[in-house]
Amino acid sequence: MRFDLITIFPEFFAGPLEHGIVRRAREARLVEVHVQDLRVFTKDRHRSVDDRPFGGGEGMVLKPEPLFEAAEALLGHSLGNAAEHVSPDPLTAIVLMSAAGQLFRQETARRYAQLQRIIFLCGRYEGVDERVAEHLATEEISIGDFVLSGGELPAMLVIDAVTRLIPGALGNEASSQNESFSGDTSGTGDALDQEIAEFRRDPKASLASAPCVKKMRESLPLDRGLLDYPHYTRPAEYRGWTVPEVLLSGNHEQIRQWRREMAVQKTLRNRPDLFNKALLDKVDKSLRKL
Ligand code: SAH
Repeated sequence: MRFDLITIFPEFFAGPLEHGIVRRAREARLVEVHVQDLRVFTKDRHRSVDDRPFGGGEGMVLKPEPLFEAAEALLGHSLGNAAEHVSPDPLTAIVLMSAAGQLFRQETARRYAQLQRIIFLCGRYEGVDERVAEHLATEEISIGDFVLSGGELPAMLVIDAVTRLIPGALGNEASSQNESFSGDTSGTGDALDQEIAEFRRDPKASLASAPCVKKMRESLPLDRGLLDYPHYTRPAEYRGWTVPEVLLSGNHEQIRQWRREMAVQKTLRNRPDLFNKALLDKVDKSLRKL
């Protein structure tokens, strides 16, 4: 996997690329990271990458030319023009970091981990000329519903999330399989489909209280869109706070059940939207089949 970062602040990445799993993955040549200074692709004396917005308004906007030319130089071929558009190869993504983009999720990280190359375009100022989003980037990605001052931190965050999914990057292969947001929310059997069919016949019945939905809530497996369960390590007692007894019991079945219940409770408490999504995904699928 090769990551390219196109930025006006190339020094920004020195720290984050030099620590932990990302550093190890680079050393082991599982990933290669190239940081490209955008200003190399300017032609004027002031090396300007930005200009005033057409139509007026606040702030400056990153110009399209340096970004297109930087990406083309890295790719080694032209991306065409309005008359003839040339796409990069399907194993390469050109990702524009943008508060107005689609939300980056664990499933996005999993999809990216299958690619060979990702070129990140890091915005600054008021943002980036829209032609970059439309004709250069293959996707526009946001890391959350808040506005940062630049795309560098968001791009680094994506690199971190993707790198740890590349086989061999984590010491312990299992550790990326059983964590928050892993797995999907499908595969809960046909019983719910039947109850939904009954619900459609008798709309007075409440789907939320249908026994099968309740059962599903109780049996939702740990790896299906729930947050991670709580972890504990030694000491077993710290300042009077003890580790839950069940974890010291050695009873693996009880521990498994306890962890699932804790994951459910934590998801309900911190991210009820995820919990509802897990249920609703299944309900949606069943309704579409009818
Ligand atoms: N005017 C823009 C914000 C520009 S912030 C708007 O209202 O949407 C400057 C740059 O920071 C953006 O071009 C983008 O590259 C980056 N950025 C800011 N917030 C981000 C977010 N939530 N996710 C990804 N990139 C973000």
